[in-house]
Amino acid sequence: MEKLFDPFVLLFTAGFSVTGIWFIYKVYRWLAGLSSADRSLVFHGVFSARLWKALIETISESLIHRKVFSRNPRLGYMHMSLAFGWFMLILIGNIESTWYTGDLFKPIYVSVFWRFFDPGPAFPRAAWQPGFAFIMDLFLLLVLSGLLFAIVKRFRSRLVGLKRTTRQQPVDRLALTALWLIFPARLIAESMTCGAHGTGSFLTGTLGHLFSFAFSPSPLVLPTWWFYSFILSSFFFLLPFTRYAHIPSEPVLIFLRRFGVRVSIESPSFTDLNLHACSSCGICLDACQLSEVMPGKQVQSNYFNRALRNGANPPHQWDCLLCGRCGSACPVGVELIPIRQLQRPDTGIGRGLQLPGLVGKNGHKVTILYFAGCMTHLTPGIISSMRKIFDQSGASWHFFDADGQNCCGRPLKLAGQTQAASELKKKLEQDFLRSGAGLLVTSCPICFRIFNEEYRLPGMRVLHHSQYISELLEWKRIKVGPSGLSAAYHEPCELGRGSGILVEPGLVIRSLFHSDVTPSGEGLCCGGSLGGVALEPEVRKAVARGAAEQLTVNHPDVLITACPLCKKTFKPVTSIPVQDIAEATAHYLIAGSSMPERRKSTKVLGYEINK
Ligand code: SF4
Ligand code: SF4
Repeated sequence: MEKLFDPFVLLFTAGFSVTGIWFIYKVYRWLAGLSSADRSLVFHGVFSARLWKALIETISESLIHRKVFSRNPRLGYMHMSLAFGWFMLILIGNIESTWYTGDLFKPIYVSVFWRFFDPGPAFPRAAWQPGFAFIMDLFLLLVLSGLLFAIVKRFRSRLVGLKRTTRQQPVDRLALTALWLIFPARLIAESMTCGAHGTGSFLTGTLGHLFSFAFSPSPLVLPTWWFYSFILSSFFFLLPFTRYAHIPSEPVLIFLRRFGVRVSIESPSFTDLNLHACSSCGICLDACQLSEVMPGKQVQSNYFNRALRNGANPPHQWDCLLCGRCGSACPVGVELIPIRQLQRPDTGIGRGLQLPGLVGKNGHKVTILYFAGCMTHLTPGIISSMRKIFDQSGASWHFFDADGQNCCGRPLKLAGQTQAASELKKKLEQDFLRSGAGLLVTSCPICFRIFNEEYRLPGMRVLHHSQYISELLEWKRIKVGPSGLSAAYHEPCELGRGSGILVEPGLVIRSLFHSDVTPSGEGLCCGGSLGGVALEPEVRKAVARGAAEQLTVNHPDVLITACPLCKKTFKPVTSIPVQDIAEATAHYLIAGSSMPERRKSTKVLGYEINK
């Protein structure tokens, strides 16, 4: 074989070096920007089984795109064929060139342009050569089929199961064009070479054969390799400045996440890594209900990520409902909601949500604290229902915020007032613990989430009222009569997707109604979320109307939810009665159903129910 060099390889080498240097610099910055606690997690993770789990996840998500497949097989095929096919072309090209040269440390370009350096003799010198040519053609065909899907997706996204695709920036379009040209350019260069030498397999060999019928391919061999090298070089020059930065970034995110690193104010570089790992795939566009009601406005998470990545102010960031639908749809697992919350500085935009100060509570020796939450005070029907349920169960309970003067702090946090939120939290934590109660029940999923995630309440169990009611039913502390009606269930974002409370609301609803309600964690947002502090009322209404229409498509007798805010939001937009799960339970309570003999027991379900 002649020397393994030609000047055209310099183009590719220059572009690839830019990406390589950028990537090494970024990995250094991502690690250096972690808090010392997170760096220690990474250090310990490297020497644990999590390293292997991260490796498996990288193969299954970055190459095979398993999650995208499970959501949308056509889109999954497109991503898989491009990523896995390209990876295999690199891997097998490297094995083939190493096998033949015997040099493990040859320059990278040798395996990239291997067919140029070794077109393969007309009569193979080794039995394995046609095998390599066949496998390489097979993977090139796989990539080209994925490319076809990508082109269809760009111009007719519905054919691949997407209603919308990301609107590209000029630099992204340029990189996309380069990416689309890489594989046809490779096919032509390899086929031209095979045509000139009478080699190749079913794809490059056949095309080369056709070329040689029409013209003499030999003079075109070198120009086509120059073109291929130029296209590769263009793509790698652009990669660090475009959405394609996700290709090397996503595996780093997977490893760090597996080691336990999470988005936090202490580790800003991890947020940057999340933003770079976003592939702008656009899956979050269809998941976001604002796409329907704010057409043309770039409120969704892919645009938010892109703006932050480019150092710009994210558009419409105060319109986002923080419902989390985009986060649970995102196949990359970008921590969208925590990132959005960190980007909500105390700008004053959320000051309209200023809530009343705390009123201290002292010395209440009770077993159960009921915290209605300020939103529940706007829907008194839920409070009177909970009173009825508590009383009927025979519990010793205390209405902690009967005066409606307490806030859990989460609405302020969602509005960017983190300092005020943390002061409220500290005060409430002390008051809760001073009460001596073993159980805290709340009617508000917003309060429930922050109590669970951020409050330190040692020795105190926290339940949403749907869980509490479910336990009362299970332990026969209360009984309900069947309503004989049908119901649909709206999963509140903070309760279902946000806190993973799915089973208990389903159990309660199935015991009341003859509807097979099985919450999935994929619920629609009602539009009333406190997150969208800048959202126009008519946009909220449109979101609510759209969600109500979908939820009541089977004409249930009643629409059940488990959140005071959702109930208030749905009521004006649907003719079907809307009830909170507590109201429905209280409505069908069978009087005198609590079991006196059970009252003697002091501990049930981990907390005292009666003394
Ligand atoms: S946030 Fe996730 S779903 Fe949305 S574009 Fe980025 S990677 Fe895709
Ligand atoms: S959190 Fe909800 S409203 Fe905000 S971008 Fe995601 S899906 Fe849309």
